[in-house]
Amino acid sequence: MVSLKDVHKSFGDLKVLNGVSLDVMKGDVICIIGPSGSGKSTLIRCVNALNDIQQGSILVEGQEVNDPKLDKLELRKKVGMVFQQYNLFPHKTALQNVMMAPVRVLKQDRASAEAAARALIKKVRLEGKEDAFPGELSGGQQQRVAIARSLAMQPDVILFDEVTAALDPETVGEVLQTIKDLAEEGMTCILVTHEMAFAREVADHIYFTDRGVIVEHGPPGTFFTNAQDPRTKEFLSQIL
Ligand code: ATP
Ligand code: MG
Repeated sequence: MVSLKDVHKSFGDLKVLNGVSLDVMKGDVICIIGPSGSGKSTLIRCVNALNDIQQGSILVEGQEVNDPKLDKLELRKKVGMVFQQYNLFPHKTALQNVMMAPVRVLKQDRASAEAAARALIKKVRLEGKEDAFPGELSGGQQQRVAIARSLAMQPDVILFDEVTAALDPETVGEVLQTIKDLAEEGMTCILVTHEMAFAREVADHIYFTDRGVIVEHGPPGTFFTNAQDPRTKEFLSQIL
């Protein structure tokens, strides 16, 4: 579904990704963890071409992302992204936020886009909040609207970049539950997260990055109990 091979990325003289390879199968949930500045956000932003790369290959459903002729809009229909800052349109209701892209980008008719948006709002457990504006919702509720908005594009994979990092602790759980629901339904998810308990429970595979390389990776059972590399051990000792 998503395959990175020897990806290199620099910003000017700063090398941020130094040969990253990873594979994500359909239905997989993978978590990317690692210290601040290790290149996690850069890595996932490369997958939907928000960042370009200098070397290597990124395939999404067999299509090369690192191709100058790539249609980025088509790619981003397939690859959804949810950010730490939910970036909802403040003057649109929850329902309007969710149905906007299907109407404008996918050219769905309003009635079917609205029906789909209502179903998605229910799916993220926000039934009754359809007509609320973002300012009337908690951070966790807004983030769930942002997830519903991403789902409305019917992506093949969703990238989540620290989507709970800016939330009040009491709303983190509900957002993680929403992601867990998606994972259980078989949505392919690539998450950058600091939520280790969540990663342990939900991820099929954990990748630990440091200074632009994947230092170590494995299924959570092995990764968390049997880390080998000193950098992984040190990181886990600080965070667990
Ligand atoms: P955090 O956990 O703090 O979110 P991260 O692992 O996501 O960190 P990145 O945001 O990928 O790290 O950043 C990796 C490095 O690339 C950092 O040194 C950062 O300053 C640099 N960087 C990121 N984006 C840009 C940019 N657009 N221009 C220049 N440098 C950048
Ligand atoms: Mg980041």
